[in-house]
Amino acid sequence: MSDDHLSELYQDIILGHNRRPRNKGELVPFHGKGEGYNPTCGDEVTVFVRRGPDGDVLEAVGFTGEGCAISQASASIMTAGMTGKSDTEARAELRRVLGMLTAREEPAGVDLDEWGDLAALIGVRRFPARIKCATLAWHAFEEALGVRGR
Ligand code: ZN
Repeated sequence: MSDDHLSELYQDIILGHNRRPRNKGELVPFHGKGEGYNPTCGDEVTVFVRRGPDGDVLEAVGFTGEGCAISQASASIMTAGMTGKSDTEARAELRRVLGMLTAREEPAGVDLDEWGDLAALIGVRRFPARIKCATLAWHAFEEALGVRGR
């Protein structure tokens, strides 16, 4: 797949999530909440986490907010990917995505089959000024997960 084609695909994924965000809305009730603000772009995201009866599985992950397409699509992709994961799985994925987004080196061969819509987010790292837009929801999610074992 050519680089141009890939960029277009990534753009389609981002714009699609921005237009029709998954899991948008405040969760009632929720067990954890995290807020993020990106002053350089004006993006706001609040993430809500609801846990299942065992206190481990993330039964629902939702968000509210406003801002640029990347910030809102990132929140949508994040909530879609994290819903149903265990606390441990979610934290591992969180570290993996933030690591990819902030790594100094271009990640080697992002596999679309493995990463799905996340690949579009990882593509944002080509535009350093927008990386904070992409990481915002993930940092808010980290805050919403709270201190492990609580
Ligand atoms: Zn932004």
